[in-house]
Amino acid sequence: MNGYDSSAPSAARQRGPARRRAGAGWVLGASLALVAPAALAQQAAEPRCPPGGDVLLVNGRVHTMDAESRVVESVHAIDGRFVAVGGTPTTTPCTETIDLRGRTVIPGIIDNHNHIVALGLRPGHDTRLENAHSIEAVLETLAAKAAELPAGEWITSIGGFDINQFVPPPAAPRFPTLAELDRVTPNHPVYIQQSFAGPAVTNSRGRAFFAERGIEVGADGSIAGGATPNPSSRALHALRGLQTLEDQKRGTLDALRYAASLGLTTHFDQGGFPATGTDADGAAHFDEYRAYDALLELHAEGALINRIRLNFLHMEADPETPKLRARLENVFPRFGDDMLRVVGIGEFTAGASPIVMQPTPEWENGTRLVAEAGWRNENHSLTPGDYATIIDGWQRVHDSLPLPGIRELRWVLAHAPFITREYADKLRALGGGVSVLGGWRYISGTAQQNGPPFRMLVESGIPVGMSSDGMQISPMNPWIGLYYVVTGKNARGETINAGQTLDRATALRLYTAANGWFLGEEDSLGSIEVGKHADLAVLDRDYFDAEATPDEDIKRVRSLLTMVGGRIVHGAPDAL
Ligand SMILES: [Zn+2]
Repeated sequence: MNGYDSSAPSAARQRGPARRRAGAGWVLGASLALVAPAALAQQAAEPRCPPGGDVLLVNGRVHTMDAESRVVESVHAIDGRFVAVGGTPTTTPCTETIDLRGRTVIPGIIDNHNHIVALGLRPGHDTRLENAHSIEAVLETLAAKAAELPAGEWITSIGGFDINQFVPPPAAPRFPTLAELDRVTPNHPVYIQQSFAGPAVTNSRGRAFFAERGIEVGADGSIAGGATPNPSSRALHALRGLQTLEDQKRGTLDALRYAASLGLTTHFDQGGFPATGTDADGAAHFDEYRAYDALLELHAEGALINRIRLNFLHMEADPETPKLRARLENVFPRFGDDMLRVVGIGEFTAGASPIVMQPTPEWENGTRLVAEAGWRNENHSLTPGDYATIIDGWQRVHDSLPLPGIRELRWVLAHAPFITREYADKLRALGGGVSVLGGWRYISGTAQQNGPPFRMLVESGIPVGMSSDGMQISPMNPWIGLYYVVTGKNARGETINAGQTLDRATALRLYTAANGWFLGEEDSLGSIEVGKHADLAVLDRDYFDAEATPDEDIKRVRSLLTMVGGRIVHGAPDAL
């Protein structure tokens, strides 16, 4: 899973003699301290290879997403960075060569706004249903998971899908039933929950577990949702009670493996709602003090296979925002390393219930504190009016500060389905950017709940990049998001965003090169250029060719091989 198996020779690659693969990093055989003296003379003759690897990919269609949109045949990475892009390849005895066999390569996809930390903390063995486009596909996905797991282990799927996508029109959207679930998962309890707080469905084994705890389950396995606490949030709370830190680490790695299979290499996490530890918590809640334990342990073990950037989400009703103040006073912004780094505050700054943004005293005060501390700030916008509330509020704070005010802090408005050109221009003048997403509108959008205005934003010249906002209300899969950007169609096949679609290359640029700016790492991430991190994905089909990959197949694009810092984190050269 973590890379090459040195014991398996392959026609698709050749390698230098001295290096071998161990654990998460490259090691040099000759550098090991405890070798028999007789072996030393032989090893001394072997070349000293870069500890971060030396890998050359040839015979591909490498879409660099650089400023000229160059497409080249080869790319060479040493020690985790690109050292040559195109041109005549050169090799050393250390070079491992991978034949791409004409495959399409893109920069590693950057999701500039999601909730990968919360996904990693899901109880049970989370099974993404976001790619299921029929009840039968749901059942196949669950059956495949059951085949991997010992009997009795919980199979869960919490958020990231909408039952809209499970049933083609004109039939009404529905969950799978208890009987259907029993058929494919007779030996495992199952819990499938839509969005933050249900509704949900379970199978017979799950129903028995919930019944013991007094949680109502219908004869068809249905569990009601709605305002929390509700039967779904009570079920979720019960499942969370089973979890250990080891489970959370395994769940986090599962989430990252799924991401890598889609070609994702970097996530910008936007936090969770502060948990109460009660039946009132939904899928997006986590313990603000313990939520990062699993991630930090995996990072310390060198086990992270995607890069993660963190915003801290703050929600508090106290106008003095003491928790936010403490964060700003005691945490270093931009602290971390290339795999895990703190960025700023978001996607909320302050306010007890910022789902609908209001210019409350706590929000104004918190916003000012973030500006004075010189941190990046991000707020989400969902309604036809809140983007104006936020941008006007940011303007007030900016105007009250000495120049440059917030202009160099890259404050970001996220989602913004209804933002106008007037407000895009205002935010651009404040040095801000807009993060947009496709998957949310794809699974649940309508003719009224549509947008965002992709084309207008690109034409406005403001920094604009893409995200999933997965994995509660929206799927992680960037290819679903790109399908929506390119077609404007929702999961029911209705065209809801006509006039605001983009061509495929422009859409993918928003998920790659454009997102370097959102991380504050445009010099290191987002495109395949000399000096940048060697993050890329080798695709299973040519996304850019509308004949080879019709619009409907954009959703089905997957990565055959994903590389982070020159290290293979998904797939294998043999499979190309
Ligand atoms: Zn979000």
